[in-house]
Amino acid sequence: MRYVSTRGDTPPLSFTQAVVTGLAPDGGLLVPEHIPQVAERLNDWRALGFVDLAKKIIGLFVDDIPAETLDELIVRAFSTFDHEDIVPFAPLPDEAPVQILELFHGPTLAFKDVALQLLGQLFEYILERDNKHLNILGATSGDTGSAAIAGVRGLKSVDIFIMYPHGRVSPLQELQMTTISDANVHCLSVDGSFDDCQTLMKDIFNDAPFKSEYSLGAVNSVNWARVLAQIVYYGYASLHARGDADVSFCVPTGNFGNVFAGYLAKRMGFPIDKLIVATNSNDILSVFFRTGCYQRGDVHFTVSPAMDIQVASNFERFLFYHFDCDATRLREFMTAFSTTGTATVDELPSEDDFLATAVSEEQTLGAITRMYEQYQYVVDPHTAVGIVASERFQTAGPKVCIATAHPAKFPESVERSINGVSVRHPTLEALADLPSSTTRVAADVDAIKAIITANSR
Ligand SMILES: *Cc1c(COP(=O)(O)O)cnc(C)c1O
Repeated sequence: MRYVSTRGDTPPLSFTQAVVTGLAPDGGLLVPEHIPQVAERLNDWRALGFVDLAKKIIGLFVDDIPAETLDELIVRAFSTFDHEDIVPFAPLPDEAPVQILELFHGPTLAFKDVALQLLGQLFEYILERDNKHLNILGATSGDTGSAAIAGVRGLKSVDIFIMYPHGRVSPLQELQMTTISDANVHCLSVDGSFDDCQTLMKDIFNDAPFKSEYSLGAVNSVNWARVLAQIVYYGYASLHARGDADVSFCVPTGNFGNVFAGYLAKRMGFPIDKLIVATNSNDILSVFFRTGCYQRGDVHFTVSPAMDIQVASNFERFLFYHFDCDATRLREFMTAFSTTGTATVDELPSEDDFLATAVSEEQTLGAITRMYEQYQYVVDPHTAVGIVASERFQTAGPKVCIATAHPAKFPESVERSINGVSVRHPTLEALADLPSSTTRVAADVDAIKAIITANSR
């Protein structure tokens, strides 16, 4: 399988090239040259557990890693999950109107682990094979740094440097990063805001000689391997949900990476009906699916912070398919959007594929309350956005809501919504007793570069 850029100006790449490339050199996103079709294999695949299904699905997209090696990487990636089904369905009664697929059984208790645990293994394999070393630099406002760190901790071929704004991430989120003691993990507590961290990141990546001398890379959300890993749970859930008809998924959405994987799973032929895009009050995507107009706005801070996103980095992949893989039309759309802050499609995406809706803070917290009162089941605020969305649409078949984080990661919202209940998780409780280490650093390009230089191998 070869990978092409949505902008059409990059020669086709192999899978491993696509993984180390991330963003295509022409500014586009990498997509597979064709979408493999699986409908005829589904009867056999129904009997497979998550990991064995992952081997089948991922294998369709990879032809430059020996099959046996790829299978080993997949097994190792998901060995860090604490549930035997990897992505189990929540124990709700049969009559519940929505089923819940728990994607939070990885090391940092969030769905990003599914993709980043695999990405870490792939990096290690490719870098060792090519005798290379990578320094990953990232910035986090709190939520995603720990999953990136957990994906690469302990790897020989990778060092990771994660910047976060000093004193502005929650104590829990900070501990999830700073208690990781592996020598290749470097947490940088920056005297500045998250915006400062992002600016530092851009400035350092723009220094081409430094970037190349220290083999600087990113683990950004546009990496193709992340989408690929996510296709697996859509396939798995579509084959294992209760009910016979095609499954609709409600997906708490920020960067559109998660729900885009669902779209590909549908196009591959898994029994999937609608994809319900659930946003919080950052509603650029829900407006787009209803009006065809994609318009940048201001970011609102909500109780579902991982979805506080205006411009969805993975959306370009969907637009490429919406434009029938016509890179010229895609480029025109993206240029209009980046120069004017708004762009419109002539034809709305089909409601056979996507439905979309935005959910307020009050509705989100209300869903946490309701799920607990009805089922004694606690959802996190991101999942709660998906639950509200699921209630707004009738579908012919079963609805599955994707649970993207464990509720214990967001104790304030849970305690606000449910009187007298606090949720715990042993992994998070253990953090307080672990030694933690971070380097406090000025919001200064040279100071960050000095740390990378000093720790470079
Ligand atoms: C990242 C994240 C999301 C949003 O996923 P996208 O792929 O960006 O749409 C939702 N919930 C949680 C908890 C997340 O960490």
